[in-house]
Amino acid sequence: MNRKLIFKKKIISELAKNGLRNSSKRNFIITAFVASRKHLNADELYAIVKKIDAGIGFVTVYRTLKLLVHYGFAREVDFKDGFTRYEINDEPAVQHDHLICIQCGSVTEFKDPAIERLKDKASRDTRFKPVFHRLEIFGICRQCRNTKKKQH
Ligand SMILES: [Zn+2]
Ligand SMILES: [Zn+2]
Repeated sequence: MNRKLIFKKKIISELAKNGLRNSSKRNFIITAFVASRKHLNADELYAIVKKIDAGIGFVTVYRTLKLLVHYGFAREVDFKDGFTRYEINDEPAVQHDHLICIQCGSVTEFKDPAIERLKDKASRDTRFKPVFHRLEIFGICRQCRNTKKKQH
């Protein structure tokens, strides 16, 4: 079984364990979300599922995303482009974070265990149960910096 399929099954069984009634529409949205490219906003996910099942409404898509965030299976990312975006959160060890270019909008992902340790320590100190963290660093990417240099 591939990783995406395993993760999808885990989400569905975990939701059932938490007393949520099984819903074929919700399962379908979860399947599409897990299979999709990263950093989708609710409209983009809705456009994907609507093509295959016209009976699925935007509200169901939106609620499913919020549910996944609530249980830690997805996390919200905000690249300051006016949308809340979502990505699957299937990295139990070291979660990745984002560098966003404010000129071209490119997104670079990076991982650093030190951030994870910081999150754990802060949570422990305050007896807080972390579900996911969010770190977005905004600036100018290498490509944009090079273009700028050439112009001057
Ligand atoms: Zn750039
Ligand atoms: Zn990402």
